[in-house]
Amino acid sequence: MKFYVNPKNRYLEVFAEGIEGIITFPTWVPGSYIIRELERNIIEIEGIRVGKNRFYVKDKFRYLVQAMSRDPREAIATNDYLFINPPAVFPFHEIEEEYCVRINTNWIVHTTLKRVGDWFCSENYNEFADSPIQASPKLKLIEIDSYHKISTIDDLDESFVNSLGKCLKEINRNIFMNSTSEEYIFFFKRSDSNFGGIEHEKSSSIVTSWDYKDLISLFVHEYFHRYNGKKIKPKDLKINYESETYTELLWVVEGLTDYISLVVPLRTKVTTVENTLNYIANVLAWLTFPGIRRMSLAESSYTTWIKYYRRDNNFANVSVSYYQLGMVIGLIMDLEMIENGNSIYDLFKELYKIKEYTYDNVRQVAEKLGVKNLDELVFSRNPPIFDRLSKYFEITFIDKDTPYYGMIMDGKKVTFVEDNSPADLAGIIQGDEIIGVNGLAFSNKRLEYKENLRLTIDREGRLIEIVLHPAKNPGHNLVIKGKGDLFKQWSDFEYGEGKSDIKII
Ligand SMILES: [Zn+2]
Repeated sequence: MKFYVNPKNRYLEVFAEGIEGIITFPTWVPGSYIIRELERNIIEIEGIRVGKNRFYVKDKFRYLVQAMSRDPREAIATNDYLFINPPAVFPFHEIEEEYCVRINTNWIVHTTLKRVGDWFCSENYNEFADSPIQASPKLKLIEIDSYHKISTIDDLDESFVNSLGKCLKEINRNIFMNSTSEEYIFFFKRSDSNFGGIEHEKSSSIVTSWDYKDLISLFVHEYFHRYNGKKIKPKDLKINYESETYTELLWVVEGLTDYISLVVPLRTKVTTVENTLNYIANVLAWLTFPGIRRMSLAESSYTTWIKYYRRDNNFANVSVSYYQLGMVIGLIMDLEMIENGNSIYDLFKELYKIKEYTYDNVRQVAEKLGVKNLDELVFSRNPPIFDRLSKYFEITFIDKDTPYYGMIMDGKKVTFVEDNSPADLAGIIQGDEIIGVNGLAFSNKRLEYKENLRLTIDREGRLIEIVLHPAKNPGHNLVIKGKGDLFKQWSDFEYGEGKSDIKII
């Protein structure tokens, strides 16, 4: 199929050419585990609707797509910027046929699609869908090294680009043995909110807020997906553009990638050991809430479509993130492998040989490298992560047994209530706004710990009174300390310490 794209303000007009028959618009984009209903953006089409996202069309047809999403998983067209994640705009007829696109613009255009005259092409829809297009009169190409570039309309300072270069070199040289010399592009843009990144085999698209803190880890995470998630992936993670696809291994794809994006900046010394351990401490602190006792890592992979990607402010009570728990399992695996003279890098070297792996492959390779009983970490609800980490780190819960109500607040608003905490037992729910304490107006300060704290709460516009009694904190915030030979081998530092700062009261 061929698509001639006419960008307009907030819309894309597309003239398509193919074979008469049924075309399908994807309902989701690979790498993002939610049915996005992208076909909702089709607003005019020359064709007969034969389903929610399917049309019968002649060999030539015109359609109009709404393109006003800042999300790098979708598409946006403005008077000075264009970004297209292809599955959000282009339908397919047969997966295995050539797909080409031409953009009617004199702007600078960047894409990893193959240039053929004025057209950008790929051999099949899967590759086409995996190749975003970015255009703007202000578009720049920042060179990281001869193979890696950043395409952006914004600025990135030189020290960031140098640090990123060191991390990419570490991944290519020490994990994947310089196995590819294909060009790779980071499509980057700042926005008014943080959308994170989405991986592709030859590129990634990253949109963050202006004040986003840990840009290096995010770039490294998306880059590592070039391998883990694209060149190597779970055997059962098949792409079907119209329905959910299930695997119990998203913790390998995402959690271990998160671990790599933590440890590579540490080993290349572009971040400090303190930053790294602070991050780990915070992730561990989130894993002290009830969700981890209700869902295993493998289960969280299946339920991501209905839980993680649709999470609400009760998530920490009811589920677990395969990013967070997967990252911690990566840390445990790496330390146990290092103790046996190997490392998690060896795991990826082995998986790279297998390409499409199963859980048994992962377990067998991990076992060979020194990890015993991976099953209990992956399949148990409430896996013994603190037990297994205690061999390598000293972990102390600093708020254990201190007074606590068991809620998190944003100003006057309650944003989280821990199950079975004093706040829960007293009847507080997320969304409650505390407007009075013991008969006085609540001034937005931290709540004091007092017996019989009388709260006046605005719930949905009605006033209610709730009496709150503090109890002992079960222990959430923690300090993690590392030292000794193995810590040195892991971090290349003699000593390190990190602290979590979850604002639970
Ligand atoms: Zn990812």
